[in-house]
Amino acid sequence: MSSISFFDQVNQNFDRAAALTNYPVGLLKQIKICNSVYHVTFPIRRDDGSIEAIEGWRAEHSQHKLPTKGGIRYSMMVNEDEVMALAALMTYKCAIVDVPFGGAKGGIKISKQNYSQAELERITRRYTFELVRKNFIGPGVDVPAPDYGSGPAEMAWMADTYAAFTTSELNTAACVTGKPIPLGGVRGRTEATGRGVYFGIRELCNVVEDMKKIGLKPSLEGKRIVVQGLGNVGYHAAKFLQQGGGIIVGLAEYEGAIYKKDGLDVDDVVRHRKENKSILNYPGATNLDSPREALEQECDILVPAALENQITMENASKIKAKIIAEAANGPVTADAGEFLTSSGTKMVIPDSYLNAGGVVVSYFEWLKNISHVRFGRMEKRFEESAFKKLLGAVEKATGNKFSDAELLELAHGANEEDLVNSGLEETMIDAFYQIRTIRAKHEDKINLRTSAFLCAIDKVARAYMELGIFP
Ligand code: NAD
Repeated sequence: MSSISFFDQVNQNFDRAAALTNYPVGLLKQIKICNSVYHVTFPIRRDDGSIEAIEGWRAEHSQHKLPTKGGIRYSMMVNEDEVMALAALMTYKCAIVDVPFGGAKGGIKISKQNYSQAELERITRRYTFELVRKNFIGPGVDVPAPDYGSGPAEMAWMADTYAAFTTSELNTAACVTGKPIPLGGVRGRTEATGRGVYFGIRELCNVVEDMKKIGLKPSLEGKRIVVQGLGNVGYHAAKFLQQGGGIIVGLAEYEGAIYKKDGLDVDDVVRHRKENKSILNYPGATNLDSPREALEQECDILVPAALENQITMENASKIKAKIIAEAANGPVTADAGEFLTSSGTKMVIPDSYLNAGGVVVSYFEWLKNISHVRFGRMEKRFEESAFKKLLGAVEKATGNKFSDAELLELAHGANEEDLVNSGLEETMIDAFYQIRTIRAKHEDKINLRTSAFLCAIDKVARAYMELGIFP
């Protein structure tokens, strides 16, 4: 484990980049600090009638843009330092992918498997009420989302509780994102973070000169990949990477890890895990002694998608992957990240960029909620009829007839999911090249993490300067 806290690690990365800027010290300090933290303890009644005190947090790191945005974690490891660190990462993440929000994060300190559905609902609703009480939630104030241990069900309970306390507000659905579709969720949100991870890795793999430097052939095709964590982010990232031509050679969950040189089928491993209550003993694969061992396996790309502090100075020298893709938040400690990239033969794609797909699509969901209309509703049929007219003109000019299947595919108007996925892809590609351009300006002497921080610092600093708060 690293000897410094998670928030200190984020700040260490920040300081490395900040030292390369000319912004006033006071402005840099304002960007770095966490503006507000709310720590709450509340009682809930267990199913057996007993009372339990539950601890929760919400941190709003920066209100330079509103609302603030960030997930809610359900884990026994949640603490004040962790939510502050994750809230800070959200500020930088939003800036990098041009999402006009400040950063926030929340957490409830529980081990979910110890509670029934009814108890989890009571905990989530009471936590939401505590946020309402202190104005730490609202469409224009602070908008939670799913994170480690939470998903659409928790978001539905939060939205419903918020609506119950704000009856005259029109935009209540926009108080959280990651909701089920019938409650105002957006298609594509569940898989968005994993899909974004895939886009980011694919873009890097397509850069011929970068791949040459680290001794890999360009393209994702045939790259051997190990993924740690088969939850929302890890599962979807693994699936999209496999569909994109990567070979998933290793998968790790908390109960163990498996490795298979010629590739694992992600969905089949998930089915096996569900049936056997363990990832281990998958036919044809080798069981590894511990989940951590998966990180050290022979592969080209390592995707830690579980939790922070997985690659530290203790195991960094054992990492064989050339690309370490931070799908989770903070999986590589600040010092280990510098160690891995110092020789120039490995690259770390930083969390502040790579897992931003979730907040990008959350932003789309928020836009859908405040505009009260589904993406594509106004233009889908119009587009289809315009495409059909065009195809008809082509048929007339060439004398060739399109088949019904071709017509169906070519005259397809964009629906909500098409638009969300396309907006996500555009955002991830654009942000990747913003970061690369900054690195090129520094003659490739800085790593991608420092470039990403420089990108974020510049955007947040300019927002403060526009407000006239700083010269
Ligand atoms: P999740 O709860 O859906 O999945 C996490 C998975 O990791 C679980 O299946 C868990 O069993 C597994 N895991 C825990 N410890 C492990 C270990 N030591 N080895 C292997 N597997 C382990 O959570 P998630 O939403 O996928 O989040 C994962 C990470 O991605 C977190 O760092 C989170 O902050 C980050 N993230 C999530 C989102 C999102 O949209 N959900 C967005 C950005 C970043």
